[in-house]
Amino acid sequence: MTADPTTSPDQWTIRRVLDWTKAYLAKCGSDSPRLDAEILLAHARGCPRIQLYTNFDEVLSNEVRGRMRELVNRRAQHEPVAFLVGHREFFSLDFEVSRDVLVPRPETEILVMESLEAIKGNSTATVLDLGTGSGCIAVAVAVNAPTASVTGIDLSDAALAVARRNAERHKVAERVTFLHGDLFEPLPLPSLEQGGFDVIVSNPPYVATSDAATLPPDVLRHEPENALFAGADGLDIIRRIVENSPRFLNPGGTLLIEFSPEQAERISGLLNERGSFDEVTILRDLSQNPRVVRAVKRHEG
Ligand code: GLN
Repeated sequence: MTADPTTSPDQWTIRRVLDWTKAYLAKCGSDSPRLDAEILLAHARGCPRIQLYTNFDEVLSNEVRGRMRELVNRRAQHEPVAFLVGHREFFSLDFEVSRDVLVPRPETEILVMESLEAIKGNSTATVLDLGTGSGCIAVAVAVNAPTASVTGIDLSDAALAVARRNAERHKVAERVTFLHGDLFEPLPLPSLEQGGFDVIVSNPPYVATSDAATLPPDVLRHEPENALFAGADGLDIIRRIVENSPRFLNPGGTLLIEFSPEQAERISGLLNERGSFDEVTILRDLSQNPRVVRAVKRHEG
């Protein structure tokens, strides 16, 4: 592991390139250097990741090594792997991503699991995804709830274009409607007795502007600002969702919002003060951090 396999004339096999890249990316600060190396090499070679394992001793062509060199250099500058290869797995599905959307994160899968749980056994379920971005939540719900109708809203037209392609890619476009606008704005006002949605789910922007410096460079330098930041305490968007969602939820409907761990108490407080919700439960992610709130809209009377 002394020479750079992407420039050295030696025989650089898949195995050696992966080992070298892993060590290099670890030094550059990646927290998943082996996985990064595999995804980038599979992209450079134009094959699924699994094929790297079955061809460990293959010597790579100059062309593949050239492509790999470029990808590794960009990764070393903290460009997210998902942007370099243009896609990312979420909820066992492959999603197109671009610089116009937040990269889907594993903790956000909780929102999908909880949405599916909330509509289990409901064959006419309606789900609203606010700030849909890549559409990963909306599409994953639609794929796994084959009769549900899903609406995704986003302020970014560029994000919606990605979301629409993801719905088509996963063959749910006829059950997922994407609307352009600011949170609830593009929706018709619901009637008094019918809120409209069985589930409202959101991974909104929730980073406090003062926390910008604490974000990893991958996120801060490369992901869209308007998908990350929400005012001085990060709660500007969540406050608006809590305020308006009761009007758009059916009685007994479920609100699910992702947030940053230190916001848990304030978010429970906001939901309890709002007065329309019966059960307010904080759920933890795989790292045991509070990450999602679930609140059930009260049945009147
Ligand atoms: N979880 C993201 C981060 O910490 C933030 C995502 C968001 O604001 N919705 O980078």
